[in-house]
Order: sequence, then structure tokens, then C-alpha cells
Amino acid sequence: MSTPLQRPGSKAKSQSSSNSKTTDESYSHKTDLQTEIQFLKGVGPHFAQVLRTRDIKTVGDLLEWYPRAYEDRRVARSISDLRPGEIVSISLNVVRVASIQLGKSKRRMYDVILKDSTGTINAKYFRVPYKGYFERFQPGLRVRVVGKVTLYRNKIEFHHPDIRDDDALEAASDCLVPIYTETEGITLQKLRGIIQTAIEKVEGVVEDRLPKQILNKYQLPSYYESIKALHHPPQEAGPEFVQGRSKYHRRIIFEEFFWLELLLANKRSLVKRESAHKMTGGIDRVDDILKSLPYHLTKAQQRVTAEILSDLTKPHPMHRLVQGDVGSGKTVVALLACAYAIRNGFQAAIMVPTEILSEQHLNNAVKLLGPFGINVALLTGSHTAKEKKEIVQRLKSGEIDLVVGTHALIQEGVEFKNLGFVVVDEQHRFGVHQRQELKQKGFLPHFLLMTATPIPRTLAMTVYGDLDVSAIDEMPPGRTPIVTRVVFPNKEALVFQFIREQIEKGRQAYVIYPLVEESEKIDLKNAVDEFEKLKKVFPKFKLGLLHGRMKPDEKDEVMNEFRANKTQILVSTTVVEVGVDVPNATIILIEHAERFGLSQLHQLRGRVGRGQFKSYCILKHGHAVSDESRQRSQIMSETNDGFKIAEADLEMRGPGQFLGARQSGLTGFKMANLVRDADILQQAREAAFEIMQNDPKLELPEHKLLFKMLTQKSGPVSLGTVG
Ligand code: ADP
Ligand code: MG
Repeated sequence: MSTPLQRPGSKAKSQSSSNSKTTDESYSHKTDLQTEIQFLKGVGPHFAQVLRTRDIKTVGDLLEWYPRAYEDRRVARSISDLRPGEIVSISLNVVRVASIQLGKSKRRMYDVILKDSTGTINAKYFRVPYKGYFERFQPGLRVRVVGKVTLYRNKIEFHHPDIRDDDALEAASDCLVPIYTETEGITLQKLRGIIQTAIEKVEGVVEDRLPKQILNKYQLPSYYESIKALHHPPQEAGPEFVQGRSKYHRRIIFEEFFWLELLLANKRSLVKRESAHKMTGGIDRVDDILKSLPYHLTKAQQRVTAEILSDLTKPHPMHRLVQGDVGSGKTVVALLACAYAIRNGFQAAIMVPTEILSEQHLNNAVKLLGPFGINVALLTGSHTAKEKKEIVQRLKSGEIDLVVGTHALIQEGVEFKNLGFVVVDEQHRFGVHQRQELKQKGFLPHFLLMTATPIPRTLAMTVYGDLDVSAIDEMPPGRTPIVTRVVFPNKEALVFQFIREQIEKGRQAYVIYPLVEESEKIDLKNAVDEFEKLKKVFPKFKLGLLHGRMKPDEKDEVMNEFRANKTQILVSTTVVEVGVDVPNATIILIEHAERFGLSQLHQLRGRVGRGQFKSYCILKHGHAVSDESRQRSQIMSETNDGFKIAEADLEMRGPGQFLGARQSGLTGFKMANLVRDADILQQAREAAFEIMQNDPKLELPEHKLLFKMLTQKSGPVSLGTVG
């Protein structure tokens, strides 16, 4: 998670918070954003404690307790005017509070019955907002209700609205009133009061941390003006303000993104200033290898290869990500780049997430590069100590030109003669620290990351924001889109018949079972049991079984038999999810498809449709299927486009879930939303990168504050990415 924003405030006037405690000075002390909250007039030790439980320690933190909504008091309302879907603010009288036990459970539902001269309406609560919430509502009490009008069984009602005392002062004010997320121990009035005080106190003290030229260029109001408007909406505020889309909101969102992008721009600029081995020559250096390929590179493959080779001729380390949907042909691009580095006298390494994939890449490399005198070796975690020692020795002596392997590649004890180029395939499966790990071991090779998990552009700007990005946005010719169908268990016989027909035509099939880590044993049993069952269903064919618990050489054997079409059906857990390439396989049956996420389904489906044959993906559902998994299957059957699927995934799960382990620091924005505010993100990025371009060390006087922000240990947004 992110750390709360640190507001350095004005340099000239800022006194550190420890200073503010010294008695003499505290009289002349001016309140700024870093002032500890208990020193704000009207707060005191008690409220300071309450606020601290909400992570509000300074005046700056308090000012960032942004209203979560505004209620528009400029429109008077009565119950008979209410329409479903509207968010309203309405003054009503309490009739009574009813509490209803829900079934046999201990849970209760609360119903606050409210009325005005035009009718009654119920406000329902399925949980208690905080202790004592309902006790306040005595019959006859005049309250202010703010919430969304909901239609339920043909009647309008409120669900979890805000209800509070309708004090005369508020009722009279004819304006937009900010609504804050309430917290126990502090009333809304109190909160508004101290925020008001804070705004008054910091007026003329806060210095804008965004440089003037940025404010001008992007037409952003000043920080103070924005904060003030958010807590104290201007009279003329229109609907865009209520929706959080005003220029003041934009300014705050811009700034949140800006710090993140500045950090990324800085990381990128640091890499560009490191030095690396410069290679020479154009693509003709690997012409002979290119000519030996059984196909022509697609335009996209050519372009990306050229981009990579051009990076390699620079004296700074390449740090590039290649995005290309499943089956777009990333491997050959990586191998060509390896050959180029090797012919420049360096060693190269390809790192992959699974042993199955490392075997496959090894085979490809031996086949493609072996005939040209390039020595290729495998290094994974399953070698004996003796074998490993021997490989390490050959790496150290320079006898091995290209090593393919799992994460074991960069583990303790592995040395190289002159490692110049590293490829990380299926990058999304790794953490993000390989570059750092290699650097710590004293290597600064050129670095190529490859991923088949497309991520929407806005997220790419943040997660991969410090990398150069290339896209292989074209499929090799002759591919036909994979046909995807959703089926239920009652259609099993039909599905088997279809598989039989495909195999009789000479094709092969995958049958995938989910593997959930917590219950690995049970799932394993599923795959094994199912394997036995399928053998009986398909007595004429040979079947293979593959799962994560098998020994590496057993896995190899099973994969090799499948690759050679000695087995026609591969029953497998998700160990084949990434990278596996058997172009003759044209059908994949995914059992319990409801248990997989969208991206995972897309990856699995990508195991077929890798050759010229028409391919099929069958998503078989179990019995209890949620709406969400139905929706996922629907999306899968509508499109084969990885980007569209990623976007849908992002929309369904939100950035935090979508990124998962890949990036956890990105969800700590207080106002910004990566999906909604993509346009602002784009601008903030442009601004940050422009500054770094012109002043990489932030030495110009107008960038002094930026420098300070960037070098603050706990940056404004803590960022876990970038290796
Ligand atoms: P991915 O991008 O998913 O890693 P691969 O590199 O495994 O894809 O390539 C998928 C398949 O496409 C492989 O069988 C590969 O030989 C083939 N292939 C790659 N490039 C081309 C091309 N330009 N023309 C035809 N087939 C290609
Ligand atoms: Mg691949």
C-alpha cells in the first residue's frame, strides 16, 4: 500500500514537526501541511487520537480526507418527487426504527421508516454502520437523508443512506455540502469544522509543488485553490463538480499520477545513464539464421527485432518489454536477438517460469541456432549438484553461448564469462526484480522482457512505465480465429464425440483440470481420476497425463510424446498454461472453466490455434456457476483479442485485483482511478517524462521541490515495480 502523501509544504516557512514542539517557537509557528494534527486549533489530543486511527497525522493528511460525495442542497425535494437511481439529499422525519432478524442467523436488518408531508419511505441497512447509529433516531426527529433512491419490488427505498441530524444551519444553507466518510468518535460537523480551520490556516503558506509551467500548460488550478474548492465547493459548481470531474478534481488526480510517473521517468532515466556493452552491426548479422527459418517473419516481428537490435547498439542497457498476444511468435524474435548478442562476442540467457517451457525453448534454440555453431545449454533447479557445477563451469569458461533455464539461472553460484543479454519470457509470471538481482551480482546486461498477458494501455503506463515497450501486434499468416464454446456437463458426450472427430482428422487435444493450490491433493486426484476415465472414453487413442507433482524428466517425456503425436490427448493441470507450443493441437477442453480468471482462460486457450488448422476451445462449466464466471465465459466466446479480454478483466476486477502480485502499490491513490482517469494519467506522464528529459537530475531551480519530493525516502506513492 502507499504511504500517506507527504506534503513538504513551503520550504521557507516549513518547520519540522519536532521543532513545532519547542515551546518558544510554537507561538510564532505557522501551520503548514506538515504540522502535526493536534496543533491545529480545535483538534486537541483527543481528536488527534481519533484521527490517527484513520491515518491522519498531519494537516496535509487531513486536507486529503476528500469528500466522498456532495449533496446538492440547491434542489429542494419531497418523497413524492423521488425517482429511482437519483442520488438525493432530503429532509425527513423519523417514524420509527424496525429491526428484523434475518433467517436463523444472528444477523439483523434495520429499517428506518421516514416520512414527509407527501409520503413515507424506508431506509434499509444490512449491517450497523457503527455502534449507536440507530439509537439516535427517536420518533419525530428531523433528519437529513442522503443516498441513492433504489427500486425494490416496485417500491422506492434507500439502502444504506447517510442519515444524520438535520441541523438548522445546514438545512438553511443553499449549496453543495461535502459528505465525508464518517468515522466513530467524530461527527461530520466537527470534521467539517476542523477541515475549515485547516484551510484557513494554510492559506498563503502552501507552496505549489507542481512547477508553474506545468500548471500553465495543463491549465491546472493551484494546489491551494483546488483543496479549498473540494472542501468548500464554489457556488457556481455544476454537475461535473458533483461527479468529481471539475478542474479542481483534475488537478488533484493529475498530481497523484504525476508523482508516480516522475518516479518511473526517473527510474528510466537512471537506466539510460548506466553503461552497457555496445554491440555493432545491423540485422544482416543474423541473416543466415533468418534465411534458415521455415517461414518469413511477420512485419511486426521484423519491426520489433529491429527495435531490439537498435537498442543493443547503444552504450546503455536496453530495458524493453515486448508485448505480443499468445501465438504471435515472440520466441523467434528473442532467439534472433540472442544470436546477435552472441555474434557480438557475448553470452545470452533466456529465463522462463516453468521447466516445461525451458525444455521447449532449449529445443527451439538447438534447432535454430545449433547449426550455426552456437552452444546452447539448459539450467534449471532440478539438476544434481554435480551437473549444475559442470554447467556453471562451462558458463564461466565461456563455452556455453546461450543458456536457457528457470529462475535458477540467476541464483547463487551461477557465473558467466561475459553475459551481455538476458531475456525474461512470460515476464508476468515472475516478480519484477530480476534486473535488480542481476545488478547486485555485478551484471548489467541488456534486458528484454516478454509477455503475452496484454495489459490495457493505461496500466502499462504505470506498471511498465519505466520500460520501452514494443508490440508484436500481428499474428503469423494463416491463423484462423479459435472458436470458443461454453458447455454444461449434460453435453459431455457431444464434446467427446467432437474431440474424437478432430483426432481422427490427425489433430490433438488438451483436457485441462483446475489446480487450486490449497487443495492440490484433491485436484490432483481429479486429474488422475479423469485421466483413467478418459482412457476408457477414448480406447483407440493414446493419452498422456501431466501435472506439477511429476519429476522434471517425467514431464519432459510426457511433453515430448505429445509433441511427437505419440499421444493424442494430453490431460493436464495448468502447468501447460504458459508458452507451450504444439501447433498440431487444435482443441482444448477446459473443465471447471468457472474456476479460472479471464487472463488465465485466455492463456490456456492460446495453447491451440498456433498453426494452420482451425482450432476450438471448449469451456465446460460445473454446476454452481456465478454470474461473474458466466460473464467471463461470455467474453471469451465473443473475442480472441487479448487486449479486449484484458480490458474486460480490468473492468470486472479493478486494478488492484487485476495486477495482483505484479503491482500492489498502484492502488493507493486517494482520488485518482486508473481506469476512469486514463486521460489525466496520459497527461501527467507526458509532463513527468518531459521534465526528466530536459532536466534528468532535477537541477534547475524550478525543479527543486520536485527533487525533494523524489528523494524523500517514502515517496508519495510507494512503488514496488521495476527491476
Ligand atoms: P508466443 O508469442 O506465444 O511465444 P511462439 O513464439 O511460441 O509464440 O510462436 C507460436 C508458433 O508460431 C510457433 O509454432 C512458431 O514456430 C510459429 N511462428 C512464429 N513466427 C511465425 C511466422 N512469422 N510465420 C509462421 N509461423 C510462425
Ligand atoms: Mg512464448
